[in-house]
Amino acid sequence: MEQGRGRAGTIAGPMRNGILVAAVPAAALFGWSLGAAIGGTADTRAAWAAIAAVLLVVAGLAALGWRSARREAAARLAEAEARAEDAQLAEEELRLLLEGARQYAIFLVDREGRVSSWNAGAERLYGWTSQEVLGRHCALFYAADEAAGAAQVEAELTRALAEESVTTEDWQVRKDRSEFLASLSISPLRSENGTLRGFARVIYDATERRAVELAIQKREEHLNSILATVPDAMIVIDERGRMTSFSSAAERLFGYSEAEVIGRNVSMLMPSPDREQHDSYIERYLHTGERRIVGIGRIVTGQRSDGSTFPMKLSVGEAISRDQRLFTGFVQDLTERREFESQLEAARSELIHVSRLSAMGTMASTLAHELNQPLTAISVYGEAAREMLGGEGAVDKGVLAEVFGEISGQALRAGEIVRRLRQFVARGEVMKTVQDVPALINEASALALVGARDRGISAQFFYAPDATPVFVDRVQIQQVLVNLMRNAMEAMEGRPVRRLSISTGLAEPGLVLVTVGDTGPGIAPEIKERLFEAFASTKADGMGLGLSICRTIIEAHGGRITVRDAQGGGTEFLFTLPRAVEAAA
Ligand code: ADP
Repeated sequence: MEQGRGRAGTIAGPMRNGILVAAVPAAALFGWSLGAAIGGTADTRAAWAAIAAVLLVVAGLAALGWRSARREAAARLAEAEARAEDAQLAEEELRLLLEGARQYAIFLVDREGRVSSWNAGAERLYGWTSQEVLGRHCALFYAADEAAGAAQVEAELTRALAEESVTTEDWQVRKDRSEFLASLSISPLRSENGTLRGFARVIYDATERRAVELAIQKREEHLNSILATVPDAMIVIDERGRMTSFSSAAERLFGYSEAEVIGRNVSMLMPSPDREQHDSYIERYLHTGERRIVGIGRIVTGQRSDGSTFPMKLSVGEAISRDQRLFTGFVQDLTERREFESQLEAARSELIHVSRLSAMGTMASTLAHELNQPLTAISVYGEAAREMLGGEGAVDKGVLAEVFGEISGQALRAGEIVRRLRQFVARGEVMKTVQDVPALINEASALALVGARDRGISAQFFYAPDATPVFVDRVQIQQVLVNLMRNAMEAMEGRPVRRLSISTGLAEPGLVLVTVGDTGPGIAPEIKERLFEAFASTKADGMGLGLSICRTIIEAHGGRITVRDAQGGGTEFLFTLPRAVEAAA
């Protein structure tokens, strides 16, 4: 249509000009003949001819103008009609769309909030027909009473005006007074010149979605409560090894908060070489399906945030959900179990130790009594000898020799009594077996080091691979180790550095050397000489028997015990034990 109108316009132009060019001489000729007919001078005739020509041109122009104006009006009318037709079509389409959107209530309200249009979705959702609801205030749909509803509508519309659209979630009421959770969006509608014509409200029922959300939330809370209470540390990772969940027990065990580890690679919780290789472990499993740990469980080493390591039992479960594969690791700290086991063991050897000591206590009082006799005798003979030497008469050498003989005899007797005491303490049932040195030391330290951490004492162990096994009585050697470690711990009390170090090595081919070192003050000079003798003690409540018993035990095993100043301060006790191969040979 547009094209046709355009073509008509282009044809009209030259045609109009042609008519005009032809009309001017024709009108002049007509004027001339008119002048001739009326009769007059040639001038008069010429004037008439001019007037007629002008009149004719004007009339022609008027006629032409009227015709084109009429054409343009017709074209405009057709255009308007077409536009109206388009608008009608669009409106129809919109109506169909609104009617078709059955999941959505879409309706318009005027500036005051009265319903001005209502789609089928609105009817379905609210239960009101458009006849019932058109013209009514939409406070009708609010759960609160009508006045409060109206105030709420007012507030929403004002907000929508200010923000150009509002989306909220709120309870709405159906015709039957039942309620549903609505997701509402309200936008102002303006005409082209900007005047407000009303508001469009689009609503859908979010009750079900919210119910699903609540169910998920509940499940999540439930899971979180499990995560917070399971005694084992629980860690969930995805197939790239990134942690997606970290239980409270895991937080306590590894010393990281959940927020610190989420999204990071689980390898941060293990020492080398696992740390570097963990990604390849997962890859291999995903690739081959070969189970080395998943569903089996293994004892591995974990690393805490402070860098310290600990033995742990790891069981891994696998969950495949849709496109995601998750691994859940349950971690049991074996330190505690091992500590518990060694505490049991400790309690057992403690019992042996204590029973020995208490029996020794009984023995000691008997022996003290026994010791008293030779000591009194020594003192009496000594006094007599002194008197003889200090007297005025000649000294009878024979008698004097007899007195000194008695003194040394009694001293030997006293020594014998002490030896018997030591032997008794160190006795027990000697049961020599082949023992792994690191295991022997680990067990003993579990007993000796109880409470060490609280006292700020750290322990280091260095085991030479070839310095094991030994052929010994396990309980007795552990008694030596416990004695040495306890002494070391007591010596380090209040010292700035409190480090206990235990190491093994080979003294000579057939002898394992064990060194127990501390960072204490060193051996007090006054007892250095008689350190391994009975009753040598600098402690108020010390019996001074520990080291003497140690020596008895070590020597009974064919070894030697010595002491030396440690490099950089502190003391080192060293003892040797026969290596099992040689002992057995
Ligand atoms: P007790 O511990 O009952 O005194 P011991 O025979 O075990 O008996 O020790 C004797 C003495 O040796 C202690 O009183 C102490 O003075 C000294 N001693 C033992 N071990 C150490 C040590 N690691 N550092 C410093 N002094 C020590």
